[in-house]
Amino acid sequence: MQSLSFHGAAQTVTGSCHLIQFGKTKILVDCGVFQGSRQLRDQNYAPFPFDPSELDLVVVTHAHQDHIGRLPKLVKGGYQGKFLATKATIGLARIALPDAGRIQEEDAKRARKHGSRHADPQPLFSEEDAYEALKRFEPISYNSWTPLPGGAQLRYRFAGHILGSAFAEIACPDGQILLMGGDLGRYNTPIIRDPETVDHADYLVIESTYGNRFHSHEDPRARLAEVMTNAVETGGVVVVPSFSIGRTQELLYYISELQDAGQCPKIPIFLDSPMAVSATQLYANSKEEHDEDMLIAVSEGDHQLEPEGFTIVRDRDASKALNFRPGPFVVIAGSGMANAGRVVHHLMHRLGQASTQVLFTGYQAEGTLGRRLMDGADRVKMLGTEISVKATVDKLNSLSAHADQDEILKWLGGFRRAPKTTFLVHGEPDAQHGLEARIKADLGWNVEIPAMNQSFELS
Ligand SMILES: [Zn+2]
Repeated sequence: MQSLSFHGAAQTVTGSCHLIQFGKTKILVDCGVFQGSRQLRDQNYAPFPFDPSELDLVVVTHAHQDHIGRLPKLVKGGYQGKFLATKATIGLARIALPDAGRIQEEDAKRARKHGSRHADPQPLFSEEDAYEALKRFEPISYNSWTPLPGGAQLRYRFAGHILGSAFAEIACPDGQILLMGGDLGRYNTPIIRDPETVDHADYLVIESTYGNRFHSHEDPRARLAEVMTNAVETGGVVVVPSFSIGRTQELLYYISELQDAGQCPKIPIFLDSPMAVSATQLYANSKEEHDEDMLIAVSEGDHQLEPEGFTIVRDRDASKALNFRPGPFVVIAGSGMANAGRVVHHLMHRLGQASTQVLFTGYQAEGTLGRRLMDGADRVKMLGTEISVKATVDKLNSLSAHADQDEILKWLGGFRRAPKTTFLVHGEPDAQHGLEARIKADLGWNVEIPAMNQSFELS
């Protein structure tokens, strides 16, 4: 008797946490945080619907917080085992988890000082908890079978989503294959390999973040070149709020390509995010995951992630000094939605100048400063100060780490026959129903959209 239960990312985009049971063996795939509304975030504090001490193993698909952010909570809850992950996922977790713990401690401290709806606000996990959790990671190579407890086996396949991302192919003791999709990346993006074609699974779990959407086919390089040319003409500053893992490295790669082709002016580029700097080094060093173009560039001695005029900004004083530097230059800083991080002070100093161009690199959630700016606000309140927005605000539409509907269908097209059931997770209901309809219409497969904590027997 085998079963699969969904304890997160069920009819919502975040909180991935899926439990596989066969006989007495319990294997969890991912354990991420819920992000977004307060109601969702509150679920992070609810007890797990299983006993962490009874888990035999945790398999991790990739290092985004919505896939790893509750791992420290598992350890605190009595989990004794290991976290299996690819080498690069462990590298990125080392960068991201302690930082997330520190931010939560600071948030809890602030909430205690300023009052909160909770009597005693506590971080979900501390920086120290994160370091404890990191000790449990064990690296597993791509494309080789690793024995799991209870007679199962695991093989990681390239998912092309972010560095280290993988589909977890789990061969159960009865020979059935469960393919736990994690997040599905895109084809023809720079640096890392495309998603690997998978041709068989008895049960498939796949994300549906953009299950009802189609990404823009705009070439991000053309837009970047235009923005940098404008900056030279006006002497202005380009502020790029960027996500540290994935998006920042793609941007640096595109800027290098433009420079090599003589298609953009060579102006100073500042990477002002310690986390992005560490992630960029890991991207540059993870040869195993590089696509052909990146391998060629590296073998020719090109530093595709270090464009000309590139400067790393590590300390806070150097970051603040940029506020007084005349343009033209580009500053790339987190966070990607401009709701925290160093990009906030760059925006505070630059939004009031007509020569400033703000270039967002991804989705802007409701309630963030990024969303208000994208919606065309002419005044915004930042750190208690009201600022009138004179800068131009735009977005690079075609950058995303998640496959859209066509790309998901392209990947599903690699299967030689239909899985018995395809479970859609990691998506809002509209996206899930859109993808379900397309899969049924194009492929005629059996699709389930699991509800939170729903369990399925796998025959
Ligand atoms: Zn992800």
